[in-house]
Amino acid sequence: MMSIISKNIFEIHQSIQEASSINSSHEKITLVAVSKGQPFNKIIEAFDIGILNFGENYLQEALDKKIQLQKFPIQWHFLGPIQSNKCKLITENFDWVHSIDRIKVMRLLNDFRPSNLTPLNICIQINTSSEDTKSGIPIKNANYDLASLIQELKELPRLKLRGIMSIPSNTENINQVIDELKSMYTLYTELKNQINTVDTLSMGMSNDYKLAIKYGSNLVRIGTAIFGIRAIKTKGVDK
Ligand SMILES: *Cc1c(COP(=O)(O)O)cnc(C)c1O
Repeated sequence: MMSIISKNIFEIHQSIQEASSINSSHEKITLVAVSKGQPFNKIIEAFDIGILNFGENYLQEALDKKIQLQKFPIQWHFLGPIQSNKCKLITENFDWVHSIDRIKVMRLLNDFRPSNLTPLNICIQINTSSEDTKSGIPIKNANYDLASLIQELKELPRLKLRGIMSIPSNTENINQVIDELKSMYTLYTELKNQINTVDTLSMGMSNDYKLAIKYGSNLVRIGTAIFGIRAIKTKGVDK
């Protein structure tokens, strides 16, 4: 009998296929399994089905799991808010960071990136909602702020800019979500035309990933739809 996790992943792969076939020019879509709040044995279960990318939000929780999972060639994605004093451990332990919105953090991630590792893959987080409480560069300033981050990146060879990330508003108003997804796609296309390492539009979670793919996302970050409700309680705000 198929386990719940393999059944969920199978269904998500099918939905991704369907959503991306709407647009024939669609790029390949990466599925990041968001394992925050989940025990490490569930990560092994998903890995055995073929998932290679896992996302975590809380550094200590992620480090505890990494110790158990040393033998597995997993790509680790950091998704949570970043405090300056965590940058060293984040850049030593992750392959990707999606939640960058400050130059100071970029510099620290660059400076502490170990020389035996390839440059750290990064996405700049954009706040597409009008709520000031959310992390990310506000979309209305994005052209201007991204330009200065990109300027800075020229001095940071240990970082590789892969794209932009967002968490669209959590609202019943589907038109608003669509507007936010569209504005991200526009920004992504502009960025991609300017910088040749850019190939990633990171948007879409359990409840909106099909819509996000329809509007051009090529990396979705899915937690509860794969693993079920999160069991581990971690300090910090759970988005
Ligand atoms: C928690 C989280 C996810 C996954 O959310 P689900 O609703 O469980 O799929 C994706 N991206 C970020 C940034 C998150 O914090």
